[in-house]
This record gives sequence, structure tokens and C-alpha cells, in this order.
Amino acid sequence: MIGIGGGPDLRSSADQNADGSADVLVVGGGISGLATAYWLRRMAPHLKVKLLEGEQRPGGKVRTLAEDGYLVDTGPGTLTLGDRAVDELVDALGLADEVINAQGAAKRYLVRRGRLVPLPGGPGAALRTPLVSAPGKVRALLEPLMPRGAQGDESVHDFLARRLGSEVAKTIGEAMVSGIFAGDPREISVSAALPQLTYLERRHGSLLRGMAAMRRAARPVRRVVGLRGGMGTLTSALAAALGGLLVTGTRVLSLAHGGTGYTATTTDGRSVHARELVLATPAYAAAGLLEPLDPELTELLAIPYVPVDVVAIGYRAQDVPRRLDGFGFLAPRGEGVRSLGVINASALSPGSAPEGHVMYRAIAGGALDPGFATLPEQEKVGTVRRDLATTVGVTAEPSFARVIAWPQGIPQYRPGHLERLARIEAAAARLPGLHLAGNAYRGVGVADCLRDAKRLADLLRDSVADGALAR
Ligand code: FAD
Repeated sequence: MIGIGGGPDLRSSADQNADGSADVLVVGGGISGLATAYWLRRMAPHLKVKLLEGEQRPGGKVRTLAEDGYLVDTGPGTLTLGDRAVDELVDALGLADEVINAQGAAKRYLVRRGRLVPLPGGPGAALRTPLVSAPGKVRALLEPLMPRGAQGDESVHDFLARRLGSEVAKTIGEAMVSGIFAGDPREISVSAALPQLTYLERRHGSLLRGMAAMRRAARPVRRVVGLRGGMGTLTSALAAALGGLLVTGTRVLSLAHGGTGYTATTTDGRSVHARELVLATPAYAAAGLLEPLDPELTELLAIPYVPVDVVAIGYRAQDVPRRLDGFGFLAPRGEGVRSLGVINASALSPGSAPEGHVMYRAIAGGALDPGFATLPEQEKVGTVRRDLATTVGVTAEPSFARVIAWPQGIPQYRPGHLERLARIEAAAARLPGLHLAGNAYRGVGVADCLRDAKRLADLLRDSVADGALAR
């Protein structure tokens, strides 16, 4: 039995060869590294795997803090079921009973001049929404007549402005990009960050035609859910299933590469040798470790990151005059709210606030407001309190406040990211047995990280089967 749920225990197999080496060393125990190690051990139990995590607790951005009766997710607070990568892991870990329906999660708001306006959920509502002017709607309706773009990557803003007009690009583009990347829509690559949009243009010649076709086609139902105990339940279950394969509080300081693989030297004086090396750290950490091995690869790994803060605030429910329903709201710049968005945390995950209390989790900072990260903690809380006073009318003293700062929070996929990725992959191929995983490369969402982890575990398993590991 694993700690939570009831998936298989992977701890029984020895986690090193007789000479103390591993077949695969994974560095970085965020969701990417944990899931890679987990799938690898499930699919190729004969492989000796080791996972080294620098922090005392595994999970990276995906953790839950339990404080004063509140459960605060330090990064994502929900999962989307219906995405194969997520479903497979939840099933494999036996977490189905821990899933909590996030009530009304499809309903989201956008801040317009300090007021909350529902984001349209379908074509009818889009025609009626006050978020876009009548000329802006007419321009958006002409979208199917717009020619396909020339070859080449462009920013999310440029793509949306070309297809739907500048007003929709400003309103919706900023919301999409700040909701996922805390980024600047003029600086984020559409083909890397929102490939589903470029796919619709390529396949259907139009976003509106493509979305209509998708609505007609039967697609798996997606469901936003929370986990009992918070998202940390997922990373704790992975860690519990890995048992002794996972070593925490052990940062890799340097790497050497020789004929039979890689040797990692760690902060606690260990030396771990493995034939295959998975760097599941942020790109800047991978760059530092790879510098002595391949300076060109190190340069390519200079992917920018932006700071973000999570500010969780709890109130007595009776002190909140206008109860927020749905998932929460996003706040474009210049609309009277400084937070990038606020998540209706206690409504989405019942049990995350004490009885009779509510909790909101604001995400603030990012590419368009890097100064937020430099504020003293009290001012961060004060700023979010003002945002909540503006939007949900709460002016009472909070019963709880907690700030989690991520100085290098979210990687930014700049236009040209996919080309950079191809060059990274070509450079990494010069170092046999090296693999790069994590949210810097093929998607920043948890589901993207899980998909990538499974792909990598498949690849490693198959290379064993092909005898490629027996170099
Ligand atoms: P990380 O979580 O960064 O893990 C990397 C790990 O490597 C860390 O644990 C670190 O300690 C370790 N490490 C680094 N260097 C070394 C070393 N030298 N030796 C050993 N270990 C090392 N995604 C969603 O899908 N939905 C959301 O709602 C959502 N909200 C988010 C909110 C916030 C505030 C943030 C910051 C992110 C959010 N994300 C969300 C994104 C998602 O959480 C991340 O993309 C994902 O968790 C990244 O996981 P990772 O394992 O790739 O990287």
C-alpha cells in the first residue's frame, strides 16, 4: 500500500546496482521528476532508478501547506480530469476517492473597471457580453474570412489581433496568457503556448469554424477537480510510492560525464553514478549543471522566468458581502485590480478553509508586474486585500494570510520557443543518455508535465528494450 489511495508500492525493488550505481538518475523532484521516476519504475521495474531532490520536501511548485486550519496550495490548486495523462496517474495511484468536484469551475469572471463580468462560455454569450464593444464583435465575426498567417511563429497578441481583431486580442489574449503564464501576450509564442489555436487555424482555416467543428465532435468530458488534502496529495502519493528511490534534501552540485554515463556530486557529499540522466529541474538549474559539459547547450537553456506570488487570504464567511461563485476571476492590467487573478479556493476545494470561513488565493506579479515581487510581505497582503474589497466588497480583517513567493516562478515561451527547443534537443543529443524534462520545454501546465514525464519514461523503457542502455 502507498500512503494515500492504494496504488502499488514500488519500494520493494532494490534501487541501485551492486556497484552502487543507478540505471537512471532523475534530478529534481517536482511533479515532472516524480512522475518520470514513477512511470519508469511502473513500466520497467528492473531498472534501478534514483531521484534526488534539493528541497526537504518533494513536489516543487506542487505542494500544500497546512496552517491554522487552512490548506494552501503553493502552485496549482486543481487538476483537469478527462486529460489522459492526468486520468492515468490518478488511477494508477489509486486517488479516485480523493477527487473532489470543483463546483461551478466552468464559470470564470474578468475584471472590467473594478467589476466582475462573466467570461462568455459559448457563442451566444459571446455575442451578448459587455466585455467587447459592438464594432469589436463585428470584427471578431469576420474571423472566418481572414487569410491564414504566413509561416513562422508570432506572439499570442499578434495572432489573436490578426484573426479576431485588436480589441478581442487585448481583452481575451491578456486573460489567457496571464492565467497560464503570468506572461505578456506580446512576448509569448502562440505556437508553443497555445498550440490548440494554431492547430485550429491550420486545420480549419479559422478559429470560429474550428471551434464549431469541435463542439459538434464527441470529445472526452473535461472536469476540473480538487483533491482532498490539496494538490500536495498527488505529490505525496508519488513520493510515497517511490519510497527509498527518492532522496530529498540533496541538491546536485555538479555533474561529470564519462564513458559509462554521468556522476552527480551532491550537497551532502554523495557521488551518484548512472548511465541515463534526467534533468527535471528548472531550465536555469539544468543550465548551471551542464555548463562544464556543453556551454552551447547552457546558452540555449537561458529560458526567461517571471516571478509570481501566491497570496492566500481567509475571512469569516459572514464578513464577505458578495460571495464569489465559480473558479474565480482574471484581471487585465488597467482595470483597477493589481492581482493577475484570484481563485475561489475554498469553494473549489471544500475543506481547505475552516468551517464558517472562506479562502481566496490571489496570483500576482508576472511579466507585466515584476515589481510586485519586490514588495514587503505586508504590502503584498494589503494589495490583495484592496483587490478583494474592490471585487467582492470585503473590508473586514482577514482571519488568515499567507504569502508564497516564487522569484523564478513560471518559464516564458518567447516567440521562437519551438525552434529553440529543437536546438536544445539537437545539442542534448550530443550528450548520450541526457534527457531534459520539466515545464520549461513542452508546456507549463501540470497535465503537460505529466504527459512529458510519461513520454520520457516510455522512451527510456524502450531504449532499454532495444539494448541502447547497454552501451
Ligand atoms: P518544479 O516544480 O520547479 O520542480 C523542479 C524541482 O527541481 C524543484 O523541486 C527543485 O527543488 C528541484 N531542483 C532544482 N535544482 C536542483 C538540483 N540541483 N538538485 C536537486 N533538485 C533540484 N499549472 C497548472 O496546470 N494549473 C495551475 O493552476 C497552475 N498554477 C500555478 C500557480 C503558480 C503560482 C505556479 C508557480 C505554477 C502554476 N502552475 C499551474 C504550473 C505548474 O505548477 C508547474 O509548471 C509545474 O508544477 C512544474 O513542475 P516541474 O516539476 O517541471 O518543476
